[in-house]
Amino acid sequence: MRGLPLDYLPVFLDLRGQRVLLVGGGAVAARKAALLLEAGAQLRIVSPERCAELVQLCERPSVHYLAARFEPAHLDACVFAVAATDDAAVNLQVGAAGRAARVFVNAVDDPAASSCLMPSIVDRSPVIVAIGTGGAAPTLARKLRARIESLLPERLGELAREASNRRAQVRAALPTLELRQRFWEDFFDSALAQRLLAGPVSAADADAGFDQQIGAARARGALPRAGEVWLIGAGPGDPDLLTLRAQQLLQQCDVVLYDRLVPAAVLARVRRDAERVFVGKEPGRHRTTQQRIHELLIAHARRGLRVARLKGGDPMVFARGGEELAALTQAGIAVIVVPGVTAALGAASAARIPLTHRGAAQSVCFVTAMGEAAAALDWRALAAPLQTVVFYMGVAQLPQIVARLVEHGAPPQRRAAIVEHATLPGQRVIAGTLAQIAALAAAAGVGAPALLIVGDVAEFAATVDLPELK
Ligand code: SAH
Repeated sequence: MRGLPLDYLPVFLDLRGQRVLLVGGGAVAARKAALLLEAGAQLRIVSPERCAELVQLCERPSVHYLAARFEPAHLDACVFAVAATDDAAVNLQVGAAGRAARVFVNAVDDPAASSCLMPSIVDRSPVIVAIGTGGAAPTLARKLRARIESLLPERLGELAREASNRRAQVRAALPTLELRQRFWEDFFDSALAQRLLAGPVSAADADAGFDQQIGAARARGALPRAGEVWLIGAGPGDPDLLTLRAQQLLQQCDVVLYDRLVPAAVLARVRRDAERVFVGKEPGRHRTTQQRIHELLIAHARRGLRVARLKGGDPMVFARGGEELAALTQAGIAVIVVPGVTAALGAASAARIPLTHRGAAQSVCFVTAMGEAAAALDWRALAAPLQTVVFYMGVAQLPQIVARLVEHGAPPQRRAAIVEHATLPGQRVIAGTLAQIAALAAAAGVGAPALLIVGDVAEFAATVDLPELK
């Protein structure tokens, strides 16, 4: 969904009654044997020796033990194999034989010998969270696991099982998929779900609770749901700079309309089954395209959908948020606006430039100098001292911006900085004087998106290592 290659495809194997080969006889093999048996596998264990723990596990009827060295024939009739010996050569041999026989092999702690990896798991069966790092950082996987363990209620599995038992009842009572989806969304937030998580609930209480919830859903179902539009700021690029509210709403939307500036890593935080619609604007076609965006937003909302309108930075800063808000309000559609970190703020902190600073800048001004907007600006005011001016811009405009500032009285030695791809991988900061900056940018081959910060504070970008704010 990120549009980037996926290193591994996570899947959950149903091993009940399936034959699985385990090669190895030590403590690690015993641990893997216990896990595979929990998953219901029929185990064939191959090893010249066995530790005491494994001897005990081999008593089980679903285990067949062979006191032998591994041979490819041991893979016969197996759907999966685990190599858990302390001999890297044997593990490699199992891996190679598995590849030849088209059986997936996991060699413990040895991704190179493996054709699949076993994730760390958080078990709330039937809910299972699997964490993988592609073998890159097992310690990180363990830490994540501890965090997720503490997040998930102990009885989550019971809640899921209860939901599973009620599916037929809910399907019979609520005729459409949409009604059922809403029912389940409401159910998992309900007081009944909280009670199921808190401890056992009697069958009679659970029945009464479900009857009531289903009744409420049927009553609501008679009324069409009113769609909404959420105008959400995606921040400057780094997905960790999304607000909590943005994340929550992105997890709930049915459809997302997003701009060119929204990076793949942010889109990856959108609910997986939400429809994604790219509405990036092509330069020179703003007017018609903007109209089309309004039409799309209104049409989706009128179908009763929760529509996320995701824009780079903040939706109310150089983003036509005002026009979209007006069009939606006029169409009678409810709108929520969620702020985002605007590019100027993202760039300033990433480049460690304070936008205001005693003695250097008492005010800060955000300006766009794109297209015809440039002519209408009060350049004399922008050239005045003791302020910081941040230009949201097309890179091509840079020489004209500098020329106009100098023409209107800005000293050529005033400091300036360009921040390219702020908060994104490959971010660059180029700093110099107004007189130098256009040439420096050209020499560095600066590309979009980038912004220009003009004012004495820009000196910090090059010279001062400010302590990072946590
Ligand atoms: N609503 C957005 C601004 C959209 S205008 C916001 O609040 O940030 C587009 C301009 O924003 C770009 O031309 C560029 O100047 C600036 N911009 C957006 N993201 C940027 C980034 N990651 N790094 C540098 N500049 C960025």
